[in-house]
Amino acid sequence: MSTLDIRDVHKSYGRTETLKGIDISLAHGEFLVLLGPSGCGKSTLLNIIAGLAEPTSGDVLIDGRSVVGMHPKNRDISMVFQSYALYPNLTVRRNIGFGLEMRKVPAAEREKAVLEAAKLLQIEALLDRKPAQLSGGQRQRVAIGRALVRKPRLFLFDEPLSNLDAKLRLETRTELKRLHQMLNTTIVYVTHDQVEAMTLATRIAVMRDGRIEQLGTPKEIYDRPATRYVAGFVGAPPMNMLDAVAKGGRLVLADADTSLPLPVAFQASVGDGQAVTVGMRPEALHVADSTSGSTLGTTAEVIELTGPEIVATLRLGGAAGQRIVACLPPRTPIGEGDPCRLAVDPDTIHLFDPESGRSLERVEAAP
Ligand code: ADP
Repeated sequence: MSTLDIRDVHKSYGRTETLKGIDISLAHGEFLVLLGPSGCGKSTLLNIIAGLAEPTSGDVLIDGRSVVGMHPKNRDISMVFQSYALYPNLTVRRNIGFGLEMRKVPAAEREKAVLEAAKLLQIEALLDRKPAQLSGGQRQRVAIGRALVRKPRLFLFDEPLSNLDAKLRLETRTELKRLHQMLNTTIVYVTHDQVEAMTLATRIAVMRDGRIEQLGTPKEIYDRPATRYVAGFVGAPPMNMLDAVAKGGRLVLADADTSLPLPVAFQASVGDGQAVTVGMRPEALHVADSTSGSTLGTTAEVIELTGPEIVATLRLGGAAGQRIVACLPPRTPIGEGDPCRLAVDPDTIHLFDPESGRSLERVEAAP
């Protein structure tokens, strides 16, 4: 069992505060992804957990015991970096077992641990090769194997897939998920890739400027983003953000002769005349038919067929209307310049305060 508690962790370099009070509590077996843009403090936090940096204040506990001040090698943590740094002259077998060799683990025991890791990672056939004879993805597996044989209490990953090409990234991502399911270990994983975060995590901490903007399951982060920032970070193409004013039970979109009914869930929290930002995910928009309730009049500007879908950029109302992006089925008969009425399910509409960016309160209907 390994739990991780991060309590009010601050970190300053000189006068710059890089981490501004981080609190996270992980149960055994969780896969936490730290997600955020470059410079938001993800690696600093990971390094503090690993012991490669110390917090300026606050505490880090593994299995309920503080590890602050403890040497990294006594923390029983394995870390996998984006540069896998294998020993070029050693075989895969010795690369994986190197840490055990250094700790004078007897050869037979070492071999058993190496074989077990290689089997899990499906690289048994590669054990006698040198790193130069491996693909990027295979090398990354060897690096993971090296971390695995130590049977650590906690695995830390720092952007482990960012050096791989798109296809390998996908394969290795699936592999990591499978490994986590099999090993049931606690993992903290840093990335700026929202798809990696959504697919791998049991919980995601979306970070911004040294703080956690939202901590939640992938579903919570996607369906109920706490702020406009979180909403814009997860989902591709990103959520549409439209300026609007609530009037007489409708959301009147700025610069467009079009409006939507104010969703019931927001009727208690939005006053008449209040300015709001309306968030709509591109995948929540559809071409309206005769049964559609809430619809928006648009004109198609750019139509891009990606293969599995059409990404349509449309303009709301007249020429001065705001742009909106919709993901439509690939065979939708739509061309540039065509008028298009889009339907939106009121349950998928998000409303944010334009000033603070915070999500407006939603009163869910009783089941
Ligand atoms: P991320 O991993 O999200 O890209 P980092 O944790 O690497 O972000 O960095 C967060 C901020 O802290 C950056 O502005 C970076 O310049 C600063 N920083 C990180 N490490 C150091 C250091 N050793 N000395 C000074 N500033 C640092």
